[in-house]
Amino acid sequence: MSDQFIPFHLPSIGAEERAAVARVLSTGWLTTGPCAQAFEREFAHFIGVKHALAVNSCTAALQLALDAIQLRSGDEVLVPTYTFAATAEVVTYFGARPVLCDSVEDGFNIDSADVEQRITARTKAIIPVHIAGDPCGLDTLHAVAKRHKLHVIEDAAHALPAALQGRRIGSISELTAFSFYATKTITTGEGGMLTTNNDAYAARIRKMRLHGISADAWNRYAREGSWYYEIEDAGYKMNMPDILAAVGSAQLTKCELFRQQRAAIAAAYSNAFAAMDELEPPPVANRGDEHAWHLYILRVRPELLNITRNEFIAELKNAGIGTSVHFIPLHMHPYYRKHGYESATFPRAEDAYRRCISLPIYPGMSDSEIARVIDAVRQTAARHRARRAAA
Ligand SMILES: *Cc1c(COP(=O)(O)O)cnc(C)c1O
Repeated sequence: MSDQFIPFHLPSIGAEERAAVARVLSTGWLTTGPCAQAFEREFAHFIGVKHALAVNSCTAALQLALDAIQLRSGDEVLVPTYTFAATAEVVTYFGARPVLCDSVEDGFNIDSADVEQRITARTKAIIPVHIAGDPCGLDTLHAVAKRHKLHVIEDAAHALPAALQGRRIGSISELTAFSFYATKTITTGEGGMLTTNNDAYAARIRKMRLHGISADAWNRYAREGSWYYEIEDAGYKMNMPDILAAVGSAQLTKCELFRQQRAAIAAAYSNAFAAMDELEPPPVANRGDEHAWHLYILRVRPELLNITRNEFIAELKNAGIGTSVHFIPLHMHPYYRKHGYESATFPRAEDAYRRCISLPIYPGMSDSEIARVIDAVRQTAARHRARRAAA
């Protein structure tokens, strides 16, 4: 049926994932164990990093990363305002303050010049986010961090797989957090991974993700393990169960294929929209870098249209196209407004928010569905072209 609704997202789950879950269910060991360990090894190899630590969400990974750098009450952490709730809320868990930063001039990522302006004596770290999978300019951010002795923790929830000059995101900064949430580029339903090349961080994270206990449950209960354990810290409950890790391993084998399929959809969209002034395709990665294309964030130009972005979204919905908005900048939300974040200081993020529409982009889309999205967007823009005064 050609006029069926095209959802904003559908996960790409195949026979391999179903078989992997069935295998784990039949073993009798459901929680963290050999499958989680295997997934970690495979992930570390894929990224090209020494340690990959599986956890139950990217939010948990970010929290463990901030614990590893010993974030303390009263510290400040620089984060983009243009991101999801998780990037900043993890900072508040420590009694520290997220300091919001504006986006780059014509993109969605955090602006390193704005970052540097907001550094104080209390600043401890920067959490850049690779919005949509477009890798941030880490060279510049690392130079800023080095000048001011700050940690860099990447929120790579959108950036699997992405790369800068052949180096995969996840292998570059001290600590990098990935998400396997249901809508992300690979999924375990819920889940996350923290990568690092630092042995001390890895040991700390391994301990803190499971109650601050010295050996994890698998080692304790396995035949060769011991009943003895010691609680060395007040830790967290953030481990990834084997049922989900098995799904993750199956998804990881398709990660690069999925990326190519999304990149092809992005290219088709951008080609189709390039000639229309009312539509602004998202930035592409720099030469030699690799974009994960987790999201395709189209911006409309409301000044050339007689409808708003919200009305544009409503028209696409009527045409059977599911869309989303990434993101409502953090400083525009009630919690942050209540806590003294001023609206006027983030003009670029606000402009992007006012104009952005995320279009469907996932491997399961058929050619005819991609064509329908393109037609609906182009026709909506053409139908609502603002009448301009004659010269
Ligand atoms: C999805 C997302 C997260 C959180 O991921 P979870 O695995 O759901 O905790 C964090 N940051 C960004 C930018 C995200 O889009």
